[in-house]
Amino acid sequence: MDLVSELQSILAPGRATVNETILEGHSSDESYHTPHLPDVVVYPKTTEEVSGVVSFANEHQIPVVPFGLGSSLEGSVIPYNRGIIIDMSLMNKVIDVMAEDFLVKVQPGVTRIQLEKELKKYGLFFPVDPGADATLGGMASTNASGTTSVKYGIMRENVRDIEVVMPDGKIIHTGSLAAKSSSGYNLNGLFVGSEGTLGCFTELTLKVHGIPEEIMAGRASFQTTHEAVDAVIGILQAGIPVARVELVDEHAMKEINVYSETDYKEVSTLFLEFHGNAAGLKQDVAFTKEIVNDFNCEEFAFESDTKGRNQLWEARHNAAYAFIHGNPGKKQMVTDVCLPISEMAEAIKDAREAIDASGLVGGIVGHVGDGNYHILLMIDPDNADDIARADKVNERIVEYSLERGGTCTGEHGVGIGKQKYQRREHGPALDVMKQIKTALDPLDLFNPGKVIDID
Ligand SMILES: Cc1cc2nc3c(=O)[nH]c(=O)nc-3n(C[C@H](O)[C@H](O)[C@H](O)COP(=O)(O)OP(=O)(O)OC[C@H]3O[C@@H](n4cnc5c(N)ncnc54)[C@H](O)[C@@H]3O)c2cc1C
Repeated sequence: MDLVSELQSILAPGRATVNETILEGHSSDESYHTPHLPDVVVYPKTTEEVSGVVSFANEHQIPVVPFGLGSSLEGSVIPYNRGIIIDMSLMNKVIDVMAEDFLVKVQPGVTRIQLEKELKKYGLFFPVDPGADATLGGMASTNASGTTSVKYGIMRENVRDIEVVMPDGKIIHTGSLAAKSSSGYNLNGLFVGSEGTLGCFTELTLKVHGIPEEIMAGRASFQTTHEAVDAVIGILQAGIPVARVELVDEHAMKEINVYSETDYKEVSTLFLEFHGNAAGLKQDVAFTKEIVNDFNCEEFAFESDTKGRNQLWEARHNAAYAFIHGNPGKKQMVTDVCLPISEMAEAIKDAREAIDASGLVGGIVGHVGDGNYHILLMIDPDNADDIARADKVNERIVEYSLERGGTCTGEHGVGIGKQKYQRREHGPALDVMKQIKTALDPLDLFNPGKVIDID
């Protein structure tokens, strides 16, 4: 069978390809996991075309992997069983901004920065902001979160409805436009975070928020990470509605300063942001200042103008790139875990000991208000010893988190990297997940081998 001409008859000439460069561009994500080529890449433009491709794949038992931007970090998008990559980049329209309902309907290939620009015209914004300019389909699929999740929630809390092409080609909707519903099982919750294993998202309705009247951002520097984390607990306990609170350890601060040409103090630092009106913010900031001082804050610097604020967040968002830039020839191994916030300080202390013991260069950054932190380790992916050391660090921080009621990944997903922890984390619930996967995708064609290993 000539796969390309069969698929082109469903799509259009040029929208199914085996071009080597394109296949290669779809063989990896941003992780250190080994790349693998697909058989063919297709570029649908409509839901019906996606359904046509999926029905064809189902009929001929060909694996299918939906592809957003390829920025995921656990190998979720790598087509280890070859097959068809459905690249969503041509389905990139903002379909409808329902400003009065605080909703937006988008195609899955819309990226978060594209959406931000469009929503700005209406005085609205979408809060979930992973470091990469990921697609909304990919973000829903990994249940992404980011710096604002402490106030606005993660993807799962900001997705109202998804149009999904199921593994047999059928098209369903998982929710509605209503703000709440007691009707039926929560399919939104099931499909968000499914990492392309249950179907292909072709449209998403997302919750949006009004751009706050006033925004203030700042940095609080501490001698120890423990004090920084304790200060965050203090801020949250006081009920201060902080919109962002990010931890960057001293090693990451050093890399940031070089890369972003900043001269921030090179100690454990909280990056903070507050949203509201001028009077309210004044109070929030004054109260926060009192609290951080109780935890021996060494410096509390505020950026009230837009330029300083943008520089601050750009520096934070570029932390991963700062390590890459500062360690030429190395690749980054990023891992994330999430645990109850009261366990954070000791967890990060243990993580730092693990990094130091590994001998690898590494930093810690965290969405600390959510109890979620990341380790950025610089490795040579061709050096088995580097990989073994990085795996050991990963293993240790995951074990630490699971022992304390946490999870092996707060936001990056399972992919293949976190698969070995699934039984330990979920116990018999993993069998329920397998039953769901088998019921919805009996031929195991959708992103096989990811999240759940059916064999
Ligand atoms: C520098 C950097 C910083 C990052 N920071 C964060 C962070 O702060 N928070 C965070 O959560 N993540 C972060 N990430 C990881 C990454 O950006 C997210 O996982 C993101 O959600 C992936 O989106 P994507 O469009 O690149 O999806 P891809 O990588 O293309 O795909 C990811 C998964 O989604 C599936 N998928 C994609 N599109 C669809 C669709 N239409 N229907 C069904 N399934 C689909 C794929 O099959 C795959 O399983 C970061 C990555 C980088 C490189």
